[in-house]
Amino acid sequence: MKKIIIAGGAGFIGSHLCEFLVEEKNNFIYCIDNLLTGSEKNISHLIEKKNFEFINQDICSKINLEVDQIYNLACPASPIQYQNHPIETINACIDGTRNLLDLARKYNATILQASTSEVYGDPLEHPQSESYHGNVNLNGPRSCYDEGKRVAETIFYNYKTQFNVDIRIARIFNTYGPRMQINDGRVVSNFINQSINNADITIYGDGSQTRSFCYIIDMIAGLVKLMDSDYQNPMNLGNDEEYSILDIANQIVKNMNSDSKIIFEDLPENDPLKRKPNLSLAKEIINYNPKILFSIGLTDTILYFKSLYE
Ligand code: UDP
Repeated sequence: MKKIIIAGGAGFIGSHLCEFLVEEKNNFIYCIDNLLTGSEKNISHLIEKKNFEFINQDICSKINLEVDQIYNLACPASPIQYQNHPIETINACIDGTRNLLDLARKYNATILQASTSEVYGDPLEHPQSESYHGNVNLNGPRSCYDEGKRVAETIFYNYKTQFNVDIRIARIFNTYGPRMQINDGRVVSNFINQSINNADITIYGDGSQTRSFCYIIDMIAGLVKLMDSDYQNPMNLGNDEEYSILDIANQIVKNMNSDSKIIFEDLPENDPLKRKPNLSLAKEIINYNPKILFSIGLTDTILYFKSLYE
C-alpha cells in the first residue's frame, strides 16, 4: 500500500486530489490541513473511507508520518486570501515547505510542490515557458504569495542538490471547478455568483487582461502524472485556451441567461496583463493533454454554485 500525504487536502485542488487518490484502494491518504482557507465540507464525503485520514494541523508544525509520497498544496491561494494572511502565506511557503521536505528526506519519499504561474509575475514573455525567470514585484500586494512560491521552489531545488530528495515542481496556472470557495474573490467564482444573484459583474480594469483556465479534473490528472514521472525540474500545468476577462464575463452572462450588468472597476496593483502556459514540456514529458473545453467546465461549475443556493 502506498502512503500519501496531501497537505492542503481540504482546499479546492487538494480535496479533488484526495478524492482521486482515495479511489485507488491501494493508496492510504493522510489529508493535512489547518483549515485556514480550506474547509472540512470539501472532504466530508471522504471521512468515512478506510484509506483516508484527516489531520487538522498546520504544516509549519512538525509532522512525523512514514510515507511514500507528499503533495504540498498547503497555502492560501486566491489573491484576497493571501492578502488577508500574508505572514501565514510566507510561513507556509518557507517553514511548512521545509518541514515537508525534511519528512521526505527522512523517509525517502517523493515530494511534489504546488508552485504557480505567479512565479512569472506580470510576464514579459508570452506564453510563459519554464525557462522564463519572471517579472515579479518583491514589495507589492501579491509578493507574499509570488515570492513565497518562488522561494519554495528554491528550497526544493536545494534539497534535491544537497540531500538528493526526489522532487517534483508543478507550476499551476488558473484552475476552476466545483468546490472553489464562493467568496474567494477569483474571477470565475465571482462572475458566476454575481450572475446567480443578478448583481453587477465587476470587471477590474478594461477586461482586456487575459488568463487561461484549466478545469480541475485536467489539473488533477497532470499532478498525478507528474508525481509518477521521474521529472525533477519545474513543469507548467494548466490549459492553454486563452481568454480576456471581458470574454469570460460575456460567456458567463450568456451561459446563465443573466440580467447582470457588466461594470468596470479599478485594476488592482500588479495584476498581470496576460497569462498563458507554454505546455510543450508537459506534453512531451508526461503526455499531458488537458481535454475539457472552458464552455463545458463552466457549465459544471455553474451547476455546482447553483446547488449551493438551493
Ligand atoms: N478579476 C475581475 N473581476 C473579479 C475578479 C477578478 O476582473 O471580480 C480579474 C483580476 O483583476 C485578474 C483576473 O480577473 O485580472 C483573474 O483574477 P483571479 O483573482 O481569478 O486570479 P489571478 O489574478 O491570480 O490570475
